[in-house]
Amino acid sequence: MYENNSFLMTEGLHEGVLGNGTAINSGSIKGNLIKRRIKHETVDETQQKTHENIETNETNETEEFVPHIRWPDTFVQLYLHLGCLYGIYLCLTSARFYTVVFALLTVYMSGFGITAGAHRLWSHRAYKATWQLRLLLVLLFTITGQRHVYVWALDHRVHHKYSETDADPHNAKRGFFFSHVGWLVLTPHPSVIEKRNSVDMSDLEADPIVMWQKKYYPILFLLFNIILPVSIPAYFWQESLWNSFWINFNARFTITLNIAFFVNSVAHMWGQKPYDKNISPVENLAVSIAALGEGWHNYHHVFPWDYKTGELGNGYNPSTSFIHFFAKLGWAYELKSVSKNMILRRAKKTGDGSHPQIWGYGDEDIEKEDKEELERMAAEEMTVE
Ligand SMILES: [Zn+2]
Ligand SMILES: [Zn+2]
Repeated sequence: MYENNSFLMTEGLHEGVLGNGTAINSGSIKGNLIKRRIKHETVDETQQKTHENIETNETNETEEFVPHIRWPDTFVQLYLHLGCLYGIYLCLTSARFYTVVFALLTVYMSGFGITAGAHRLWSHRAYKATWQLRLLLVLLFTITGQRHVYVWALDHRVHHKYSETDADPHNAKRGFFFSHVGWLVLTPHPSVIEKRNSVDMSDLEADPIVMWQKKYYPILFLLFNIILPVSIPAYFWQESLWNSFWINFNARFTITLNIAFFVNSVAHMWGQKPYDKNISPVENLAVSIAALGEGWHNYHHVFPWDYKTGELGNGYNPSTSFIHFFAKLGWAYELKSVSKNMILRRAKKTGDGSHPQIWGYGDEDIEKEDKEELERMAAEEMTVE
């Protein structure tokens, strides 16, 4: 069972108990006054009496959930972010041009491991992939260093199913900082632990590639997130190991992390809601550009099984192109999607009105009376002629 949010995977996996014993779900039983009746039976033979002692404790046993700071994880994040700034400084001062290009390319390419892999394939089962593609995706994902696929997908399933409740691991209702990175350095809400333990993960448990990565994660992390990215620039174009470490491990890793964090924070806060105005995920172009097409988040939360994670034609989505490319090779198949009518129905019912429902003249979704008037106008024009 998975209890922690930790990046320090050694403490991430162990049999969980519900919380640490101090925190109780504040939402469901807040304010309950619990009366306890305790019966004390005596064995006083002379009196042969049973004394009943009713003790009523009107104590408020519910405590507001107060998360604790996990200092090791806090130091890891502090180190990564400060090191990232230093890496960017080196990019601007002493790094070789190819080193910077290589770092940016690595951010871009490895991102598909998250978007097309851990997210669309493994979290949402939005399509199927042959073992070759799954292996490629798991290696790309390992380069990003975002824990292993199993635990990423587990948290993501909980995030969708219990979005913006106490059970959401990065509940955006707790603010920008919490949903961005705070959730990784604080103890999780007990509801998160409870729901994590209730999610069906049997499909991933049956995937030998996922379980192989989970088993060997520390060594794979060392190899793909640190050793290879750092040694390639040093070996092929004689970059200094110092520069390569801070740029190709530290800065690159942290930049990828923050791009993924933006989906949890920004894409739950600022943008339009064409499909469902009652939820907080939004359509955000900037996040889509940074995160390879993952910023169409209002759509994605409404139709999480769609491999496109966005409506066709709504812009930049390289992860969809990635899946299309591998579908042509036959490595990606059984792509799940959503019909145009399903989208329009939902947009009309719950959207905020920003959905571009009509593409132009002749669109079947033009209002009936508008269509009739258009026909009248066309007829009048013909009589004028
Ligand atoms: Zn998702
Ligand atoms: Zn979300």
